[in-house]
Amino acid sequence: MNQEFYKKLESILTEEQVKIEEPMKNHTTFRVGGPAAYFVMPRTAEEVAKVTELCAQENVPYYIVGNGSNLLVSDKGYDGVIIQIYKQMSQVEVKGREIYAQAGALLSMVAKRALDTELAGFEFAAGIPGTLGGACVMNAGAYGGEMKDVLKSVTVLDKDGNVKKLAKDELELGYRTSVIAKKGYIVLDAVIELKEGKAEEIKALMDDLKERRITKQPLEYPSAGSTFKRPEGYFAGKLIQDADLRGFQVGGAQVSEKHCGFVINKDGATASDVMELMRQVSDKVYDKFGVRLEPEVKRLGEF
Ligand code: FAD
Repeated sequence: MNQEFYKKLESILTEEQVKIEEPMKNHTTFRVGGPAAYFVMPRTAEEVAKVTELCAQENVPYYIVGNGSNLLVSDKGYDGVIIQIYKQMSQVEVKGREIYAQAGALLSMVAKRALDTELAGFEFAAGIPGTLGGACVMNAGAYGGEMKDVLKSVTVLDKDGNVKKLAKDELELGYRTSVIAKKGYIVLDAVIELKEGKAEEIKALMDDLKERRITKQPLEYPSAGSTFKRPEGYFAGKLIQDADLRGFQVGGAQVSEKHCGFVINKDGATASDVMELMRQVSDKVYDKFGVRLEPEVKRLGEF
């Protein structure tokens, strides 16, 4: 650890907000990943800006993490600063048909507020276990809905430390991509615009989608959701299943027997197990069907 850099971080944040050598397996839903040299938990946009400014000055890399539900961190960890935008920045406020929420708010929390205030259109996101920030970056979607349908604007911090408000049309939201990812912006907050609805209908739809997730997805094991993106014209899970890879295992990582689109941490998997499994699955599917599977899961650190 660089004592001088640590001291500078502590001058911006409080002692409780800065951790060193923090195991990333504690902050990812895959439950794998080595230590982050520095792990910080800012409470305000100003704190985020100060940390990124310090990193730029000191030439130390940084990476943003929300709930780590789409993230595979190397067993060697990350030699830089992990900026976790999560519980400390998770305020949610409803004004009319709009929900203003900070980037660290969980989608389930936002969905709960939508239900409580009888706003419809966010049901699709209720069971996605990420933060609003992560969902904007990924244009998260499920069951026919996606963030693109409900976002009105997103406030970001750019690489030069400027705060910008981007309207939906400026976000370039596509299948699991956005301008946010391309430009390395940091999501600070977002406005979601919904329709008026009826509480019992909103609840019924949420319950139905929840039930479908419980039945179809291996929620009893750590994972990062769908491991591969949906290739044009195919379903990744179906290709993997048809390549006879159901239950295929490398070390502690396994292609879920319940849903082949999920790689799960079956039994003490390492990040290397997961990566090797993903590589072999991708190659085997390519050899059999000529379709190259691309990871949906973001990877961080050295593999
Ligand atoms: P993280 O995993 O922490 O980060 C993901 C990426 O976003 C990283 O590149 C990170 O740097 C970036 N990021 C995060 N927060 C910010 C921020 N504030 N500013 C800038 N960049 C940021 N996804 C779907 O789309 N649909 C589903 O139905 C779905 N189902 C899932 C089911 C399970 C059981 C699991 C484990 C995952 C599922 N996912 C699904 C994947 C995941 O929940 C989403 O991609 C989610 O949007 C990621 O949010 P996060 O906060 O966990 O992001």
